[in-house]
Amino acid sequence: AYTIALIGRPNVGKSTLFNRLVGRRIALVDDQPGVTRDLREGDGRIGDLNFRVIDTAGLEIAADQSLPGRMRKLTERAVEMADCCLFMTDARAGVTPADREVADILRRAGADVLLICNKAEGRVADATHEAWSLGIGEPIPVSAEHGEGIQEIYAALQPRIDEFEAALEAIEAPDEADEDRPLQIAVVGRPNAGKSTLVNAVLGEDRLLVGPEAGITRDAIGLETDWGGRAFRIFDTAGLRKRARIDEKLEKLSASDAVRAVKFAEVVVLLMDAASAFETQDLRIADLAEREGRAVVFAINKWDLEEARGARLAELKEMQERLLPQLSGAPLVTVSALTGRGLDRLRGAVLDMHAVWNKRVTTAKLNQWLGARVEAHPPPAPSGRRIRLRYMTQIKARPPSFIVSCSKPEDLPASYSRFLVNGLRQDFGLKGVPIRLSMRKGE
Ligand code: GDP
Repeated sequence: AYTIALIGRPNVGKSTLFNRLVGRRIALVDDQPGVTRDLREGDGRIGDLNFRVIDTAGLEIAADQSLPGRMRKLTERAVEMADCCLFMTDARAGVTPADREVADILRRAGADVLLICNKAEGRVADATHEAWSLGIGEPIPVSAEHGEGIQEIYAALQPRIDEFEAALEAIEAPDEADEDRPLQIAVVGRPNAGKSTLVNAVLGEDRLLVGPEAGITRDAIGLETDWGGRAFRIFDTAGLRKRARIDEKLEKLSASDAVRAVKFAEVVVLLMDAASAFETQDLRIADLAEREGRAVVFAINKWDLEEARGARLAELKEMQERLLPQLSGAPLVTVSALTGRGLDRLRGAVLDMHAVWNKRVTTAKLNQWLGARVEAHPPPAPSGRRIRLRYMTQIKARPPSFIVSCSKPEDLPASYSRFLVNGLRQDFGLKGVPIRLSMRKGE
């Protein structure tokens, strides 16, 4: 989903704006274990615009005006996750050194930023005039508390979200007729995992410069290539940056390129160094891919260096299942980007997951299945009245998404939905891809 982050030093009014945008639609804390989410998130809305909001306000523990290290870190992370940052300042306080620090973080990250001068009720002119000095561009005066200026935020976000959704639509519901469409994959992973090396190997020529240094900038551009007789478009978030550096044409750098690559890929290849796989950053990106509804293939690189292969493989598989239960059953492939070993298997896994991600199950089969499932394990009846599940259909693929009509959706425990999802995975070969299942009120 299109994601905005509320960024700014303590006390500028982030929570107030968060509450105004999200209202009571705050996402319930996920019961999936594995990934810590220490930023508050919710589903936001202004008029007909829907988006995800990340809030860094919970971090306002330090009362002083500087940005403590933890806050800076989480701000940077929120910036990375966001498609657009709402950089908030306090119009009454004017521009402070801490605001300039925040502006620096945003500039360095190359983020798409809207400058929001909050608490601007009644004193709009002075407030916004000074804020120009942050070098971010035109300030938008608002009063989060009084709900003023929200229309201006809407006007700024609308074209961005429209464009984003059109692009997403092209991925999730593409023109069926266009069969030559390249399969879009993102190669993501921590610096030095070997992303450039892998992409080079797939491209079959040294088009990108590979070096051992960690990345400073990111730039996701799709590279089209033929890989084993099928067209692929690869979003490589590391390699191109390195090529860009040689060409010395560092254009606008985007902070959230890896995140964007995930959102616009059909299959995400999460590349990890065999020696240090499934670290927090890896879990974060895998979790994001799942939440965005993308198919994931885990690629364990530098397998040539591994000595105790059998034991290490078992360990890695165990970690995958334990730390990322939401992607249970996703393939884990060992490769050596350097020698090219395992790349055929990687390609095979990508194609398999793509097929599963595209899978459709007929309504007749689903209803037959649902009937049997409910009969064998009827849903619990917490209020004494039976909950009836009547009808099930797949509303779309990419990822497989289903609705079930339910007499009392509000009473159906989440565990029962999970039970159905697990059943779908087992019985229709939907292992390893995200599955969406929603309940609709119906008799
Ligand atoms: P990136 O930052 O993810 O793009 O990583 P690079 O592709 O630049 O690779 C980082 C370093 O790891 C380079 O020195 C590569 O030569 C090395 N490397 C990449 N893949 C392999 C591999 O399969 N085996 C070994 N031994 N080294 C690799």
